[in-house]
Amino acid sequence: MTGVTPSRLLQSCGFLTGDNLAEGNSPVLLVHGGAWAIPDDMAEAHVNGVRHALAAGWKVLERGGSSLDAVEAAIVVMEDDEAFDAGRGSFLTSDGRVQLDALMMDGATLRAGGVGCVERIRNPIRAARLVLDESPHVYLVAEGAERFARQHGLPLCANEELVIEREVQRLREVHEPVVAERPPEFFAEHDTVGAVALDTRGNLGAATSTGGTLNKTPGRVGDSSLIGCGCYADNESAAVSTTGWGEPIMKLVLAKWAADRVLEGMAPEAAARMAIERLETRLAGHGGIILLDARGRSGLAHNTPRMAWALKNPQGESAGIEWPRG
Ligand code: ASP
Repeated sequence: MTGVTPSRLLQSCGFLTGDNLAEGNSPVLLVHGGAWAIPDDMAEAHVNGVRHALAAGWKVLERGGSSLDAVEAAIVVMEDDEAFDAGRGSFLTSDGRVQLDALMMDGATLRAGGVGCVERIRNPIRAARLVLDESPHVYLVAEGAERFARQHGLPLCANEELVIEREVQRLREVHEPVVAERPPEFFAEHDTVGAVALDTRGNLGAATSTGGTLNKTPGRVGDSSLIGCGCYADNESAAVSTTGWGEPIMKLVLAKWAADRVLEGMAPEAAARMAIERLETRLAGHGGIILLDARGRSGLAHNTPRMAWALKNPQGESAGIEWPRG
């Protein structure tokens, strides 16, 4: 890291704490780069990564683009950034391949598009968007998803192009007998990416993209790309993206659970905290969540040591690797 201490990476965020009501249809964008124990030497890369994603998404929103276009633009930047567990550079399956999952959801119409277990798509969020826009279905997996994406203009790549040496080494370490006996939570180094946006027309969108968990069984799908688990959006409640150990999050259908709290009248910041408390108390799970409602109020919570995030609204921009509890 080039002389930036983690504490300095946590920017001032007075305007972010719970009541950041955007006036009228002021746009808001909140992105995350995963919740885990981000080591000091990777902190700067994570903050830079979420900031670049924020800039890409904000460019869309400030010219009046849709929340879906904004979250897609933000996610593509993080999928292209090897710091994150999404796109190239993702964790490997137990047999050494990259298998990617992604979901996008439109809060205005509840249209959704997801892909699971794709191995030859550099930016699975683009494939998810194609499913949302062009398919009568909501979710496509594996070769069928890849064929669909190619037929709709997305180039395919070789799986090897998505594999990087750092992850080959990481998988090798995990296969060492002394390490292999430890519970999966020990490898809390996973950093899915997500984004939630409110556009100038007042519509919410959400997107989540991941390489899943390290050493996962081939064919495993986690929470990230499942509606209501790792991602959800409804203008009447909230746009949500989660990150963390997927199996407990799936069992609690956590993104929808949190959105329902907002529907009942809870502020997104409180709903985020309550969702993570529930994850911890009910299933001893670990992770993080971001929420945004149609009034522009945002929330974030995590019970992991760190979570990379960045937020922008017309009043300002902020980013960090820990969320300041209000
Ligand atoms: N939730 C993802 C999964 O279990 C991993 C992560 O968020 O880092 O696939």
